[in-house]
Amino acid sequence: MTLLVMPSIAFLGLGAIGAPMAKHLTPPGFTLSVWNRTASKAAAFAAANNVRHAKTPADAARGAEIVITCLPTSREVAALLDGADGLLATMAKGSLLIDCTSGDPATSRQTAARLAEKGIGFLDAPVSGGVSGAEAGKLTVMVGGDAALLERAQPALQAFGEKIVHCGPVGAGHAIKAINQAMLAVHIWSLGEGMLALSKAGVKPEVALDVINASSGRSNTSMNLFPQRVIGRAFPRTFKLALIDKDVRIGAQFLREQNVPSPMIQLAAELFAAAHAELGDDADHVEAVKVIERTGGAEIR
Ligand code: NDP
Repeated sequence: MTLLVMPSIAFLGLGAIGAPMAKHLTPPGFTLSVWNRTASKAAAFAAANNVRHAKTPADAARGAEIVITCLPTSREVAALLDGADGLLATMAKGSLLIDCTSGDPATSRQTAARLAEKGIGFLDAPVSGGVSGAEAGKLTVMVGGDAALLERAQPALQAFGEKIVHCGPVGAGHAIKAINQAMLAVHIWSLGEGMLALSKAGVKPEVALDVINASSGRSNTSMNLFPQRVIGRAFPRTFKLALIDKDVRIGAQFLREQNVPSPMIQLAAELFAAAHAELGDDADHVEAVKVIERTGGAEIR
C-alpha cells in the first residue's frame, strides 16, 4: 500500500484570487500556513479554515515543503525573499517556491537563480480562470521551470487547477500569461469601441452580442464579460484594472525583447495605462469600457 503524504504548504497573498486558491489547500488534504501583508485578512482566513496564521513570510515558510506566492507583481515576490522576516531565512534546501503571480519572466529568472544558490526550486505558475475558476478549483495553471519540480508540485496545483500545462523553462508561464492578458485587453477595447458605435447607430447591445457570439468575432469578453458587466451595468471588482495594466505592459515588454513588431499590443498597453490613470487603482478591468464611453460621448445601451 502506498502511503500518500500530503505536502505542507505556505500560502502568501490572500487577495481576490489568492484566498479562494488557498482554500483548496486546507486540511485534511494539506497542512497549511498563511501569510498576508494585511494581517487581519490572514487571521480571518486562518480562523475560518483551521490553518496557521504566520506573522511573517519567514514564519510561514518554516517547515514548508512548498511555498506559494500570489502577489500583484514579480517585484513584490522578489522583495519577500530578503531580511530576517524573509523567505530565504527559513526555506529549507530541497523546498520549492511556486509563484502564482502573473509576473514577468526576467524577474522570475533572477528569483529562480537566487533560490537555486540555496538549493531551493522555483516554478512560475500563473493562473487563468478568474475568481470563479479559483472558487471552483478549475483554474488553468501555466507552469515554467523544471519538469521534475512540476511533478512534485502536482498535488498542490491540482487542488485549485483543472488544466496544468508545462510551458517550458522558468518564465515561460509568465510569458504565456502576459500574451493571454494582452489579447484580453485588445478584446475588451475593440469590443467596447464596436459596441458603442452600434449602440449610437440604434442597434440594441443584446442584439449585437447575440450575433457576434454566433459569429467569428466572439471571445470570452463578448460571451461572458460584456453580457454580465457592460449590459447589466454591474462591474464587480474581481480583477483590477491596475493588474491588467501591469499584465499588458509585461506582454508589450516581452514582444519588444523578442524583436517582434507589435503596434497593436503596444497600443493596448498605452490605452490600459491611460484608463488605469483615469479610473484609479480600485476599478475593475472591464470598467475600461467607461473611458471609451466617456470619449465617445454615450453609454452602450
Ligand atoms: P489583489 O489586489 O486582490 O491582492 C493582492 C495581494 O497581494 C493581497 O494579498 C495583497 O495584500 C498582496 N500585496 C500587495 N502588495 C504587496 C506587497 N508590497 N507586499 C506583500 N504583499 C502585497 O490581487 P489578485 O488576488 O486579484 O491578484 C493576484 C495576482 O494574481 C496578480 O498577479 C494578478 O494579476 C493575478 N491574477 C488575478 C486574477 C483575478 O481574477 N483576480 C486572475 C488571474 C491572475 P493586502 O491584503 O495587504 O493588500
